Amino acid sequence: MSSEELNAAADCVGNLSLKGSERRLEGKVALITGGAAGIGEAIVRLFTKQGARVIIADIADEAGKSLAESLAPPATYLHCDVTKEQDISAAVDLAMEKHGQLDIMFNNAGTIEIVAVESVAEYEMEQFDRVMRVNVRGAMLGIKHAARVMIPRKKGCIISTASIAGIIGGTAPYAYTASKHAILGLTKNGAAELGKYGIRVNAVSPSAVATALTVNYLKQGNASAVSEEGKAAVEAVANGVANLQGTTLKVEDIAEAGLYLAIDAAKYVSGHNLVVDGGISVVNHSWR
Ligand code: NAD
Repeated sequence: MSSEELNAAADCVGNLSLKGSERRLEGKVALITGGAAGIGEAIVRLFTKQGARVIIADIADEAGKSLAESLAPPATYLHCDVTKEQDISAAVDLAMEKHGQLDIMFNNAGTIEIVAVESVAEYEMEQFDRVMRVNVRGAMLGIKHAARVMIPRKKGCIISTASIAGIIGGTAPYAYTASKHAILGLTKNGAAELGKYGIRVNAVSPSAVATALTVNYLKQGNASAVSEEGKAAVEAVANGVANLQGTTLKVEDIAEAGLYLAIDAAKYVSGHNLVVDGGISVVNHSWR
């Protein structure tokens, strides 16, 4: 048996060993964008284990389908490009048609620009537009269409994955930083408007964690956009070197924070940005 098969088997046993009353998302339906890999995959696995019926919405069809099929119970996979309104709308409609409800919308899909220039003076705007479309337009569409079906039910929970790049500058390229700040703005507006319908809107903000996004970012050498200290810090965390707490942040740690925002125990938590960074951003407001 391969290590992947062993992990899948262990997941199945783990999922079944939690009794209904112990599962914190029993009876809930969760739609998770960017759920095929990285942080999203960890959210999908944890939410399934906690009893949620999960829909994975991603553009990585092969990875998304195989993850969905490997879970117990299996999740549903749907091709969904978060920049396209018809795709997000269809994903939300699928949740309603298949399960009759959507309790948790997790806007997790995200991307980062590859910057090959030394200064903003030479920055390529195509990169800016691409990242803003996925990270900001994608989150906005997720909030819009989740609200469309949650308002009539007078309940729901919307979570978006931001980043510590949403609260500090100089650790990531321009569009990524701007897009993550923007997600916090969307979160605040959503919380302000939708609270009267019993809908909570929050964000989770990780620091660097080793995923395809981080590894590609480092490989491509986005040196120009980030200070040497910033690069070193990102690389250190991605390579498993201790962060401020003396531990290494993992995708599962971010999923746990997302779980807290999703459960009913957090019923008074809305408009909040839950930072999961081992304290880095408190001490080090900028690496520049
Ligand atoms: P990842 O590259 O491992 O996973 C991203 C997933 O999003 C992939 O499955 C990808 O196919 C999907 N995706 C990309 N564009 C999409 C689109 N247009 N429509 C639908 N799906 C799309 O990256 P990750 O690190 O797991 O990132 C997940 C989220 O966490 C992102 O929002 C990212 O900005 C954020 N984040 C990551 C880190 C980190 O260090 N990895 C830190 C802070 C925040």
